[in-house]
Amino acid sequence: MPEIQRRRAVTVNIGGVRVGSDSPVVVQSMTNTDTADVESSVQQIAALARAGSEMVRVTVNNDEAAKAVPAIVEELAKKGWSTPIIGDFHYNGHLLLKKYPETAKALAKYRINPGNVSIGRKDDDNFRTMVEVAVEHQKPVRIGVNWGSLDQALLTKMMDENSKSANPLPARDVMMEAMVVSALDNAAAAERYGLRRDQIILSAKVSGVRDLIDVYTELAKRCDYALHLGLTEAGMGMKGVVASAAGLAPLLLSGIGDTVRVSLTPTPGGDRSEEVRCGQQILQSLGIRSFMPQVTSCPGCGRTTSTYFQELAERIQGYLVASMPEWKKQYPGVEELKLAVMGCIVNGPGESKHANIGISLPGTFEEPKAPVYVDGKLFTTLKGDRIVEEFQVILDEYVEKRYGRVLVEV
Ligand code: SF4
Repeated sequence: MPEIQRRRAVTVNIGGVRVGSDSPVVVQSMTNTDTADVESSVQQIAALARAGSEMVRVTVNNDEAAKAVPAIVEELAKKGWSTPIIGDFHYNGHLLLKKYPETAKALAKYRINPGNVSIGRKDDDNFRTMVEVAVEHQKPVRIGVNWGSLDQALLTKMMDENSKSANPLPARDVMMEAMVVSALDNAAAAERYGLRRDQIILSAKVSGVRDLIDVYTELAKRCDYALHLGLTEAGMGMKGVVASAAGLAPLLLSGIGDTVRVSLTPTPGGDRSEEVRCGQQILQSLGIRSFMPQVTSCPGCGRTTSTYFQELAERIQGYLVASMPEWKKQYPGVEELKLAVMGCIVNGPGESKHANIGISLPGTFEEPKAPVYVDGKLFTTLKGDRIVEEFQVILDEYVEKRYGRVLVEV
């Protein structure tokens, strides 16, 4: 696959994770527990980290949440997790970071929302205070502009200027420009207040796909800060997944974006780690990073009147998800593995031959046998009631043989 030319960006170190330029595009996530509830927050952060989140953001919205942060980081360390924890601040971050120096120290990065840190003030003293705390503790910050909380004074001023100009732009364009200006002006101010360029990440999140692409394309042109990408409030289920993929893909393929978050709305009690897997899948589908063996399966059609092959595809997918935590440790490179589970003879053998291991199940009226291909060659033909189990054995043996440390060393 052709290499994607990444945009040159100043590299930022976030609690040991490097972000920017040639560093891998990092997948991050955010908790939805009450940060003050240390136990629940630790549990969810560990689950997100186990799913592969390389940084986790937590809301720090009041004294209780701020007080809980050092305990959360400590508990995670006891459990063996060193995932950088990012503090998400709005309105009162300047107060909390000053009042709780242990929190300022424990966090790996502070997210500042320039749209609400200085509400009602003519100066930017609150913003300056947060930056000075970051300078004191040598922490990076993300200046995270969001169109839902864009600096209203800046937007009003730019709208006024636009309305007086000879060729006024559409309001949407002024809004996009205001987001870029807000991010860049605040980054310049942060540098004036002592932050180095390699301590600054920018984001400019919107909820529309086309807006996202436009705003980041412009932001990327006008600076070399590392950029955090994400559609804000992506939505629920399929809508959120598709919109995030549609928005992030063109940017990532243009080399824009150093970290990503997929902001899915979970179903009540749903699995928060979905947003991590979705971010990983977007990167893997684009050939940017590999996280998980990929299963190619056909959609099925009138040639597959039974649900057998769908069940097999689902069981294999589930088996991979369950096996990966161990496989990752034992079998380096296993995330590159490609499997095919196909419904009939039409595309089954062909697609199976393109995979490392492929199985072509019998379609309706076909002879009840399933040829298995390994590295493009017919390996065996499975029959009977134990096709899934026997296929799993072939898979395990292949993984051991191809990715097992001992054999790799030989
Ligand atoms: S491989 Fe066979 S079952 Fe699957 S979609 Fe194609 S024709 Fe239909």
